[in-house]
Amino acid sequence: MTNELPAPLIAPDGAPYWRAAAEERLEIQCCAACGTYRFPPGHLCRACGSDAADWRRVSGNGAIYSFTIVHRAPTPEFRARVPYVVALIDLAEGPRMMANIVGPGALECAIGDGVSVTFEARGPDAKVPQFRLAED
Ligand code: ZN
Repeated sequence: MTNELPAPLIAPDGAPYWRAAAEERLEIQCCAACGTYRFPPGHLCRACGSDAADWRRVSGNGAIYSFTIVHRAPTPEFRARVPYVVALIDLAEGPRMMANIVGPGALECAIGDGVSVTFEARGPDAKVPQFRLAED
């Protein structure tokens, strides 16, 4: 039994996202026809239906849309981590993603707070995009 948090399971659609994250870049799939960001990645653009897409680095800045604080670990690996924040983040570029709020003041976060991406190592090779409260 290990206390290490699990590494991400990487499906083909998301492989570019995880490759970039491992190098501490937040990259999101973007429609090559209309410029709409897609997160999570998918085969077709929800705005225009195009299957053309590329991956673009985004700012990593956003705001908390909603959040909850987890007090009971869902699996044994998370026991050492509770309490922790799970949040929905609205990225400046538009997509909404789920991540933890980590770092100083995380447990005092509020809806609307500005956040910026940070990366947390998982397993030997992977890093998971997380967010910390932005300094203002
Ligand atoms: Zn499109």
